[in-house]
Amino acid sequence: MLYDYLIVGAGLFGAVFAKEAKNRGKRCLLIEKRSHIGGNVYTEAIEGINIHKYGAHIFHTNNKPVWEYVNQFVEFNNYINSPIAFYKDELYNLPFNMNTFSKLWGIRTPMEAKQKIQEQIQASGDSEPRNLEEQAIRLIGQDLYEKLVKGYTEKQWGHLCTELPPFIIKRLPVRYTYDNNYFNDRYQGIPIGGYTKLIEKLLDGIEVRLNTDYLLQRDTFDAWADKIVFTGPIDAYYKYACGDLEYRSLRFETEVLDMENYQGNAVVNYTEKEIPYTRIIEHKHFEFGTQPKTVVTKEYPMQWQRGDEPYYTVNDERNTQIYNAYKKLADKEKRVIFGGRLGSYKYYDMDKVIEAALAASINI
Ligand SMILES: Cc1cc2nc3c(=O)[nH]c(=O)nc-3n(C[C@H](O)[C@H](O)[C@H](O)COP(=O)(O)OP(=O)(O)OC[C@H]3O[C@@H](n4cnc5c(N)ncnc54)[C@H](O)[C@@H]3O)c2cc1C
Repeated sequence: MLYDYLIVGAGLFGAVFAKEAKNRGKRCLLIEKRSHIGGNVYTEAIEGINIHKYGAHIFHTNNKPVWEYVNQFVEFNNYINSPIAFYKDELYNLPFNMNTFSKLWGIRTPMEAKQKIQEQIQASGDSEPRNLEEQAIRLIGQDLYEKLVKGYTEKQWGHLCTELPPFIIKRLPVRYTYDNNYFNDRYQGIPIGGYTKLIEKLLDGIEVRLNTDYLLQRDTFDAWADKIVFTGPIDAYYKYACGDLEYRSLRFETEVLDMENYQGNAVVNYTEKEIPYTRIIEHKHFEFGTQPKTVVTKEYPMQWQRGDEPYYTVNDERNTQIYNAYKKLADKEKRVIFGGRLGSYKYYDMDKVIEAALAASINI
């Protein structure tokens, strides 16, 4: 065999696995069907600004070893994600915190805010929530739901909140401090120079072939390596034998604007239904950019069909059953490891993907 490991997919999972396998003296070939490395964390420079090509990515973690791991390869800046919500010409801070409540109700103290939310929750009754709308109101009350959750969620899922099951929203965190930091994690930031730099560092010294789809030449590649690490969609690997897994997709509209600063923040969520996009990202603010121009991206949620880019898994009952059937097949494989968000059909934050790739490569 030419290689010990054939790694399919140059996203974070594939890159971390390849790095660790190489460190253990394994011969690795990494193939990627796209024309670039990085998977969905790929960034490319436009007007000197690092653009998050497949959606805004903020690194955040509570896992110190993972934080130290990534910091070996790149330095992270001190970006803190503090998104803003735009609803009918008004701006509100996210996540829901005292700044949001003060703007919404003209109040000042945590006690006033708690009372207001409690009143609204009580007014919603105490029967079992039958849908997402009832569930959300039970958690945060009518006002926050109407202005900041309803339209955004309906755009994201392509269904009315009254048609969506309650389990989609398990928690809607409410914070009674004036703190706009979206994440509670201990460590947070953006790699200085972009995520592609991180992946380049991980793949340093590893043979990579771009524009190469494993599924189109699997017999050839299978004959080259002892083991295969597959980070593409698990249903595609098994030729959809147990059915198609579903996803939600996104369409991105990116523009260069001839101005220094468009919206004054990296992330602005559009929470009303009438505006078709869910967010506008102004990429330069992730890295405190001072370039003369700016680049913004509008995110439009889209229904997904086979062939579209799969972004979010839909972990409902039907898809869970289908995935479990594939998982049974996967567990019987002697030479294939499935990993990453598509191989495990799971929404994974970046730190969790790194953790999983480190765990998968530990005893190889
Ligand atoms: C819109 C969006 C925003 C996100 N924001 C955040 C965030 O702010 N913070 C955070 O921590 N996480 C975020 N995430 C999650 C993050 O993107 C993932 O954790 C990470 O990208 C997963 O890496 P991966 O290697 O599993 O998958 P991917 O990055 O998808 O890599 C898989 C690679 O395999 C390749 N591939 C697939 N099939 C084949 C084949 N047959 N042959 C060859 N190559 C193949 C694909 O082209 C792809 O490059 C976000 C995700 C989305 C969708």
